[in-house]
Amino acid sequence: MKRLLSTISGQVFPFERIEEFAGNGESLEVSIGGLAAARVRPGRHLWERFADFLPVSIDAELSLGEGGTPLLPAGRALADHTGIGRLLLKNETMNPTWSFKDRGSLTTIAMARQMGEAVTATISTGNMGNSIAAYAAHAGIRAVVFVPRYAPPEKILAMAIHGATVVRVSAPDYSVMKREVLGLAAGLKLRVVSGNGPVRTEGYKLTAFEMFEQLEGSVPDFIAVPTSACGHIRGIFKGYRELVEAGLIDRLPRMIVVQAANVNPIVSALREGRERIVPVTGKETVAEAITSGDPPGGDEIVLKARRFGWLAEDATEEEILDAQLRLARAGHFVEPAAAAPLAAARKLRAAGKIGRDDSVVLMLTGSGLKDMGVFARRTAEVIDSDLRNVRGDVEKILASSRWGKV
Ligand SMILES: *Cc1c(COP(=O)(O)O)cnc(C)c1O
Repeated sequence: MKRLLSTISGQVFPFERIEEFAGNGESLEVSIGGLAAARVRPGRHLWERFADFLPVSIDAELSLGEGGTPLLPAGRALADHTGIGRLLLKNETMNPTWSFKDRGSLTTIAMARQMGEAVTATISTGNMGNSIAAYAAHAGIRAVVFVPRYAPPEKILAMAIHGATVVRVSAPDYSVMKREVLGLAAGLKLRVVSGNGPVRTEGYKLTAFEMFEQLEGSVPDFIAVPTSACGHIRGIFKGYRELVEAGLIDRLPRMIVVQAANVNPIVSALREGRERIVPVTGKETVAEAITSGDPPGGDEIVLKARRFGWLAEDATEEEILDAQLRLARAGHFVEPAAAAPLAAARKLRAAGKIGRDDSVVLMLTGSGLKDMGVFARRTAEVIDSDLRNVRGDVEKILASSRWGKV
């Protein structure tokens, strides 16, 4: 029997509920009965092998090939930099629209199909809107994406090229706009999917199952996740809890909530021992994919972090940009939000909260090419040459000792 439970007070709602949160603002979670008997089935796709764990059936036609992303050792330079020997990178930039959001869009669109919805909507400044637009286009469902006034043109283009209708809404701030637009859902019978919605989270759960397979049943000690709306971190953790429930693993990883120091409502609540988040308003960060200053569902993450001994750390603008550069110099070009976990893991190791021999997975959530704005802060060094001088220039380059140092 599947239903929705509110994540703090445990109120019960039907699975088909159109609003993404409980009336009191708590996030909702899908509860599926019978997980103790759930098994991994044979199947080509992840969602086939873990069908016992999913509340919606996924039609292979809806997939754009999301998931199956590499889980790689971070390599010597990053291990040395953080002081963590067993550092792993989960490269979610290799999804169809270059971010992990695609995993949640698969389940969200499958749900829309199952409910016979002709239109699906979301609120986004970037990756979420891009991903929904692509999956909706593929499924033949109309997508409407609400964006704030300051949404960057390249991200709007990425939504529009898939045929989504983009609505730019003037509002005093993003959180206010989000709340208003989410509130339209019930009245208009329009599902406005949130980054922390219950069905989207079920898609993120598949990442835990995928890592379970990739690590052949072993569980990492820590998983660091750049956190904004909170859907990703709770989805991954839910996956591991369900693997425990099914008897497939016998311990849980500890999650690391990573935020930008400029917009850190969850990290600061945990640091200051508060039970509730205090909204952060009017602040910006170069890591614009993690700018929810007042995430609905944030209190639940604070609660879970306490209960399960999670860690939390933030990264300054400078630390985020440094981490982005270090990852790029190790071969991974990610957007600033996706670089924040590297900076956080280093600080937590230095503080002794992560041990030298602990295994730590960093979630590389989105591609560097999705956020060109950051290049305004960087200069790419280019040597201008011509056919007369190129030989001499190359000789100088080869003789130079300045060889790609960070
Ligand atoms: C959406 C997003 C996040 C934050 O994930 P939430 O589920 O909103 O917490 C982090 N990094 C990138 C690149 C994203 O697009």
